[in-house]
Amino acid sequence: MQCPSCDSKKQMKSEVIVHKFKESGLDNIILNGVKQYRCLECGEVLFDYGNLNQLNTLIADTLLRKKELLTGQEIRFLRTHIGYSSEMFAKILGLDKTSLSRIENNRSKVSNQVNMAVRLAVAGKMADRNYDFHDLIIALENEDLISFKQAQFKASTKGSWQLLAG
Ligand SMILES: [Zn+2]
Repeated sequence: MQCPSCDSKKQMKSEVIVHKFKESGLDNIILNGVKQYRCLECGEVLFDYGNLNQLNTLIADTLLRKKELLTGQEIRFLRTHIGYSSEMFAKILGLDKTSLSRIENNRSKVSNQVNMAVRLAVAGKMADRNYDFHDLIIALENEDLISFKQAQFKASTKGSWQLLAG
């Protein structure tokens, strides 16, 4: 690949790296197997996430099955993944827009009611989901949900992602 930012004719240097996926708006997602391209002339860095759509869906699915309460950042990730505006999502949750904004910015605590309502609203909109709200309740009672502070994903050679470890 040639650099899109300068007129260097050299190929960008490519490397497979472990990458903290801050571009998602989350600070607890580690990606194992991102392709990084670096321009040796101007220093421009590009990342190739492979199947980004599948990765985002997998992260959303993992968050829905997270044992602990969702964080504000995770709620924002799920809302935008599904494509809800903050106005619409606030209405669905029975909150005003300011309250939702405070929750997403970690300025208000996430209550268990909000945590569950977010999961229900998002789960109902996931395509090809392998997640069911009733199953979540059972899993919560059996304590077999995914517990994590940080989630790690690994890329396969075909470019699709899998959950490596919670
Ligand atoms: Zn360059």
